[in-house]
Amino acid sequence: MADSKARKLAAGNWKMNGVKASLSEATTLAEMFPTPTVGILLCPPATLIAPMAAALSGSKIRVGGQDCHAKPSGAHTGDISAAALVDAGADYVILGHSERRADHGETDHMVAEKTLAAFMAGLSPIVCVGETLEQREAGETLDVIRHQLAGSLPNASDLDTLVIAYEPVWAIGTGKVPTLEQIAEVHDDMRTTLIARFGDGATSIPLLYGGSVKPSNAAEIFATSNVDGALVGGASLKAADFSGIVTALQNA
Ligand code: PEP
Repeated sequence: MADSKARKLAAGNWKMNGVKASLSEATTLAEMFPTPTVGILLCPPATLIAPMAAALSGSKIRVGGQDCHAKPSGAHTGDISAAALVDAGADYVILGHSERRADHGETDHMVAEKTLAAFMAGLSPIVCVGETLEQREAGETLDVIRHQLAGSLPNASDLDTLVIAYEPVWAIGTGKVPTLEQIAEVHDDMRTTLIARFGDGATSIPLLYGGSVKPSNAAEIFATSNVDGALVGGASLKAADFSGIVTALQNA
């Protein structure tokens, strides 16, 4: 069962990177932050969830999955249930990442079903939304984000454990970052949209920004309206990089 969700969160998404030897990056990070004032989360490939959780036991760093199946068990070769992630030591799960949506055809409806499964298993889901470059250039960004939030979140959302990540597809792994005004516009609109749907309880849902966050740009992003942390890909793989982002969040 997840600890109480962190209001400010630095979450690392290792994607399909890392082997057992990479666990030293996680333990180094834990040594650097024995008493962090923000949540720190690492989401390694599924094969590393249990060993990472074991290596980090006694530390304040949490471990998460990168996907789960909507069903609790059954004939779904290659998939992992939310309960199995919990059993392996996960507290969080990333859902609806744009790479899952693109590579595996995940729709908003599928993401909503997985999100419900995560709630039921006691995981904190980090639900990802974000526009493509084509959509941004067509002036559709806010409509796209509102539509994705509407479809990817179940009505029975648990506001105490839900986390949202805004990740413009064109900013992921590209070194391109929206302007701070663009980030603020989307985050403010997400907050308004979530409050309109779920009520005032949505004021405490952490809204993460993701897309080419680095130690050098983290502070200004964390100073942006309604940004409560980051979902970080490449810069989360090395403790030396990720620690700069965690420190920036602690200082925000
Ligand atoms: C991501 O994978 O969620 C991500 C934001 O990647 P990067 O930080 O490498 O852009």
